[in-house]
Amino acid sequence: MDELNAHEAVNVYFDEAAATIDLHDEMNDVLKSSYRELAVQVPVRLDSGGLLVVRGYRVQHNGARGPYKGGIRYHPTADLNEVRALAALMTWKTALLNIPFGGAKGGIEVDPLPLSAGEIERMTRRFTMSISHVLGVYRDIPAPDVNTNAQVMAWMMDAYSGKEGYTPAIVTGKPLEFGGAPGREAATGRGCVYVLAAAAKHWGVDLADKTVAIQGFGNVGSWAGAELANRGIKVVAVSDRFGGVYRDSGLDMPDLVKLARSGRSVTEAEDCERLSNDELLELDCDVLLPAALGEVIRKDNADRIKASIVLEAANYPTTPDGDKILNDRGVRVIPDVLANGGGVVGSYFEWTQNIQQFTWKESRFNDELADKLEEGFDSVAGFSDYHQCSMRTAAYAIGIARVDKAAHIRGYV
Ligand code: NAD
Repeated sequence: MDELNAHEAVNVYFDEAAATIDLHDEMNDVLKSSYRELAVQVPVRLDSGGLLVVRGYRVQHNGARGPYKGGIRYHPTADLNEVRALAALMTWKTALLNIPFGGAKGGIEVDPLPLSAGEIERMTRRFTMSISHVLGVYRDIPAPDVNTNAQVMAWMMDAYSGKEGYTPAIVTGKPLEFGGAPGREAATGRGCVYVLAAAAKHWGVDLADKTVAIQGFGNVGSWAGAELANRGIKVVAVSDRFGGVYRDSGLDMPDLVKLARSGRSVTEAEDCERLSNDELLELDCDVLLPAALGEVIRKDNADRIKASIVLEAANYPTTPDGDKILNDRGVRVIPDVLANGGGVVGSYFEWTQNIQQFTWKESRFNDELADKLEEGFDSVAGFSDYHQCSMRTAAYAIGIARVDKAAHIRGYV
């Protein structure tokens, strides 16, 4: 089963949840595929004078509950199947967290690391113009994801505004200088910790004496690490694409965050042991946060995961086979659509602020973020306890039921 592509795998999770709520076969067919899939050619003029031609995608999975919403990722694995799977996840996430958006995702199949800032800017502007006819403040609103950030959103917003006039609400995750919301950049990672705190309270677990390992120390991983440190929770290992570092007594989070934000690798940190990404996943710790890429917990390593809680900060970090092994072993898995939902909730807050042209204080942003995520956690925990199903099945089921209802009321089916 680990041979399934990402979209097929996400549909395995869908089927389990749909069966729990007796979803009608017709709606099943509608919700298992995307509404619209756009693939575009993106030619990029390189600094050397040569031409790089890459493929970009925007997939709009479902818009029954509101405008399409989802990030843009630049990565060699971001092919149509991966983007499709991630778009569907966004539909269940926005519905579960009860924010008025549908689900979408975008990506360019490229490794941006060897590209210069100028090359990334030209690629971003060309891609934005090629997909701009399906975007819109009330139609489809992109956001940052792997290897994209506030600067990339600024270029997207500027390219779109060149055509349509000043439109900050066309993307979220923008710089604070024009329409960014204080709190949004931290929202995904910080939100993971809000969800973990709600889970610990529900399960009667004291996080004060627990240890955490984080795979991936980009936007999500580093903000989660910072929030854990603020709460006095010990992070013993972190990693990035170059490898990881470990310290039994707890790593110095502010130092590591500073290192990562300056564009350097966590492997350059001093006074700690080195470990590989595989070793980090299998580390003897209490909470594991996969916060990098998908499909890292699979059939071949799930039985070696020692953490008793897996908090899925990344999207689709666990394959269906890996998930089954974790569940059978009693590992508590907090699924991606709940765990990293702080990102899209924060994007929703940014979008509403742009539309109202009124900026909230960060304290208000964080309070409302915590409320939304705690509500989400409570609904998932309640459903999972009542139906005796995994938290993933519960989270999907709540999301699918809400989309089903909205699609029926609108007369879509
Ligand atoms: P990012 O590009 O800021 O950071 C990614 C991190 O993963 C980097 O530290 C990178 O070095 C590391 N990494 C890359 N390849 C790796 C590998 N093979 N092994 C180990 N580490 C590797 O991306 P991000 O925005 O932090 O996103 C991380 C995950 O969180 C993704 O799955 C993304 O879809 C998900 N997510 C992000 C947001 C958001 O708001 N940015 C919201 C929801 C979910």
